[in-house]
Amino acid sequence: MSENSYKSIRNSVIASVLAGVILLVVPEIRAYAVTLLSWLRNSVLWFWEALIDSYALPGWAWLFVFLLALIGSLAIFFEIKGEKAEPEYKKYVEDFMFGAKWRWYWVGNQISNIWCFCPRCDANLVYDDSSCRDFYSDIKKTDFICENCGHSVVASVKGGNKNYAVGAAEREALRRIRTNEYKNH
Ligand SMILES: [Zn+2]
Repeated sequence: MSENSYKSIRNSVIASVLAGVILLVVPEIRAYAVTLLSWLRNSVLWFWEALIDSYALPGWAWLFVFLLALIGSLAIFFEIKGEKAEPEYKKYVEDFMFGAKWRWYWVGNQISNIWCFCPRCDANLVYDDSSCRDFYSDIKKTDFICENCGHSVVASVKGGNKNYAVGAAEREALRRIRTNEYKNH
């Protein structure tokens, strides 16, 4: 076996081991790794055939191969980078609704831990949905009260209890995202 053949096999083994380690450590890039590996395999095959040919490649051909490799690497890099960019609405984490300021977190594409705060002093509001349990009450509503502003009712959501009010705020936030109103909040 010639020295070139030995080097080629050795390099392939090193590349395979490295790729295996990367796949184990970072599962997200598995899809890209498959593309990269098939591209590498084709390159190695092509390289192998070039090596066992009796003639050497001219310099311009090696330059061409190098350029192709560079373009391939850059394409994969920018594809990974582009997919990691978050959608713009993920920066939308607070808005003024039903008289109070509501804040939340994003978990994937879901709104999480949404709650309301006093628009005057930013205190955490407490809720009172006792009207929903009052048999004689005509109006079902949830009041949100600021303890820091003399226990005044800051916001009121008509239609149901605390869970209903929180759901209504979440639905309103998602509606503003769909209509793009959130961009001018
Ligand atoms: Zn307040």
